[in-house]
Amino acid sequence: MSADAKPGRVRAATSGAEGDETASDATPALRMICWGTRGSIPSPGPATVHFGGNTPCLEVRTRNGRRLIFDAGTGIRALGNHLAASGAPVDATLFLSHFHWDHIQGIPFFAPLYDERTHLRIFGARQNGIGVRQLLTGQMAPTHFPVPYDALAATLEYSDLATTPCEFDDVRVRSLRMRHPGSTYGFRVDVGRASVAFLPDNELVGGRYPIDGDAYDRFVEFLDGVDTLYHDAMYTEEEYRHRVGWGHSTFEQAVELAERAGVRRLQLFHHAPDRGDAELHAIVERLRGDVARRGSALEVGAAVEGQELIVQDALPPPRTGSSSPSGLSSPSGRTER
Ligand SMILES: [Zn+2]
Ligand SMILES: [Zn+2]
Repeated sequence: MSADAKPGRVRAATSGAEGDETASDATPALRMICWGTRGSIPSPGPATVHFGGNTPCLEVRTRNGRRLIFDAGTGIRALGNHLAASGAPVDATLFLSHFHWDHIQGIPFFAPLYDERTHLRIFGARQNGIGVRQLLTGQMAPTHFPVPYDALAATLEYSDLATTPCEFDDVRVRSLRMRHPGSTYGFRVDVGRASVAFLPDNELVGGRYPIDGDAYDRFVEFLDGVDTLYHDAMYTEEEYRHRVGWGHSTFEQAVELAERAGVRRLQLFHHAPDRGDAELHAIVERLRGDVARRGSALEVGAAVEGQELIVQDALPPPRTGSSSPSGLSSPSGRTER
């Protein structure tokens, strides 16, 4: 992380930098902070200071105080330290997209789990008949980790994504099966007219998966009009040719999906471990040029570790002078910021 974003600190988006809005003083419907943006394996070092080297973790806070956490990659360590520093008891809900290392490896380092005042609900999908608790216990078995799972002092509740509705107050969380090895899910959060979606690992086009058929149409429908979408964009087109079936998408595929679903803002996510900041900046600029040439209104950026984005629960301002490419779904219900 950069000097202005030490672990546990949050850096607000700078207006103009990657095209993202600065957090406002008004209470937004949703606030999102990416504590980990990197895919597959942590990749700290001078080349990844800007976009970050920690593996996936997205914190979403709702206007009424709910704290939702999506994935528990190494980024959740800094979130845990941030929460512990406040001194207040932690009450949160953790959604696990799947159980590949990069999405659960931070759990033993999430400080609130060692505090008996913590209450954490964990949603995940069974894998080959194995439930969430057993899947998490496995990575803390003595062969792999020195501290046993039983040492966790927090109150933990486990829920199966497939059978438990995820609604709290005015918050609705929906999940959808992804095209990715294992039983992998993506999520969408709606609060009033504000919405954010998190699809960290998803191979949009190539490979073969048990959910094939009209999977792409389901993705478009699931994301219809969502304000901010974090989506897998791990590969360039050239890289992807050698990695078909590995479970990830290209930058262009993520952009196309966002446009077809009428997404307002796309945050490219699950950055490849070897993708340096300079290269990722250049890719974002190229994609913005492509989008502008098509006359698309989509905002494109790449997720930055520690950066806060907001979504307001308000109707969008009338758009003038911008034409939409054909095939876009209706933007009705889309939110501003
Ligand atoms: Zn991953
Ligand atoms: Zn994965």
